[in-house]
Amino acid sequence: MTQQNNQIVAIVGGAVAGSEAVYQFTERGIPCVVIEQNDLPYGKIEDGLPKWHEKQRKKEMAQIDTRIGHELVDFLPNTQIGKDLTVEELLTMGFSAVLMANGAWKDRTFPVKEIAKYEGDGFYYQNPFVYWYNHNEQPTYTGEQIVVEDNAVVVGGGLASIDVVKILQVELVSKVLKGRGIEISTIDLEHKGIPATLEEFNLTWDDLELKGSYLLYRRNVRNMPLASIPADATPEKDQKIRDTRAKILKKAQDKYLFRFKDQTQPVGIIEEEGSLVGLRMIENDLVNNKAISKEGTEYDLYSSMVISSIGSIPEPIEGIPMEWSTYDIKNEETGEVNGLDNVFGVGNAITGKGNIRVSRIHAREVSVYVADNRLPESGVDVDSVRTKVHSLQEKAGYKGDYPSWVKAKARE
Ligand SMILES: Cc1cc2nc3c(=O)[nH]c(=O)nc-3n(C[C@H](O)[C@H](O)[C@H](O)COP(=O)(O)OP(=O)(O)OC[C@H]3O[C@@H](n4cnc5c(N)ncnc54)[C@H](O)[C@@H]3O)c2cc1C
Repeated sequence: MTQQNNQIVAIVGGAVAGSEAVYQFTERGIPCVVIEQNDLPYGKIEDGLPKWHEKQRKKEMAQIDTRIGHELVDFLPNTQIGKDLTVEELLTMGFSAVLMANGAWKDRTFPVKEIAKYEGDGFYYQNPFVYWYNHNEQPTYTGEQIVVEDNAVVVGGGLASIDVVKILQVELVSKVLKGRGIEISTIDLEHKGIPATLEEFNLTWDDLELKGSYLLYRRNVRNMPLASIPADATPEKDQKIRDTRAKILKKAQDKYLFRFKDQTQPVGIIEEEGSLVGLRMIENDLVNNKAISKEGTEYDLYSSMVISSIGSIPEPIEGIPMEWSTYDIKNEETGEVNGLDNVFGVGNAITGKGNIRVSRIHAREVSVYVADNRLPESGVDVDSVRTKVHSLQEKAGYKGDYPSWVKAKARE
């Protein structure tokens, strides 16, 4: 590998997609700067994927560390693009190209706007809720504390919403068992499942006197995006995948005992004495797999904890053009952002799919395309870029030794 002395690429976000981009550039001898808003670069591997995925998390983190720890990489932590460094400042630093690998961190807005005043007090979005679950037992955790309540409601339908309802169930059961002198972690509960765990202690679900959590979905189970249907699927294949979706849900319900109701959606909130106590719901018909509300079928669903898990989109960043709720790109294959020179989006920020593999493959394809076709032929002034990066690193308290930094900041 020969180092290219006249190119240097900026990568915003160091997680799955960012570190894959790093790998592709460094394999070609191209130096990179990873600009990361947090102290550590693991993104949804650390903050999204629930903590019971212990082995996978460790493996992914180790790979991210190996890639960002490469000698051709400068890491710039604690630097949020759009806040600590504007897009304009980033784009005028002189990089050969900029890759936005910043994921999808904005929860889609809950369809009933009035619920916003209860955010953090009975109403939670998925991203902060899972962040709390993953981190709240760590000694360094200083964020909000969430108390999981019985009879909580999750509005969702995708794989992440199943994880959210699982978190609620394992938290609830762990808490009730603790009250009875049985210490069992939510991770063990997730691995064994609730019925098998209770059986070990000669208990049944009914003994716990819990209502359990409730997952609500606007269409029916065969439409839940729990397994994706390829665009060219035959009708038989289509049906088979829809059957698989129903099996995935049933398996999860059998193991974690949550309730499920489909063809329903929230249309209002129920408040009592300044508190959120439930959702006003309506039933839906399915017309060509689309949910159509049935007039006159409104009903009240009482619950003092509501979690919205209806999808994540990229955070808007001033200076990055948007098209509706996503970045405005020419096409997904190149990730090229419209209206900006040599700026490309990679991973979850572009694919709209909360999936590690999809993020990685997208980042790989775009990075190879950029490395082979889009770096300025005449090169850039690498020394001048590096000088600016080093001064930003100093501001961020980073001394340039990635392994020592990771060791000092590690949360587990
Ligand atoms: C509850 C849940 C369960 C999941 N389960 C699975 C699963 O079982 N299997 C699976 O394949 N996938 C799963 N996923 C999805 C998967 O974790 C993500 O799709 C994937 O990790 C995304 O990787 P990414 O690198 O594209 O984005 P991210 O991991 O989001 O990385 C983006 C990085 O950019 C940084 N960043 C963001 N904004 C800025 C900014 N302005 N400036 C600087 N840095 C910034 C972030 O801090 C982060 O490090 C799950 C997700 C959730 C929430």
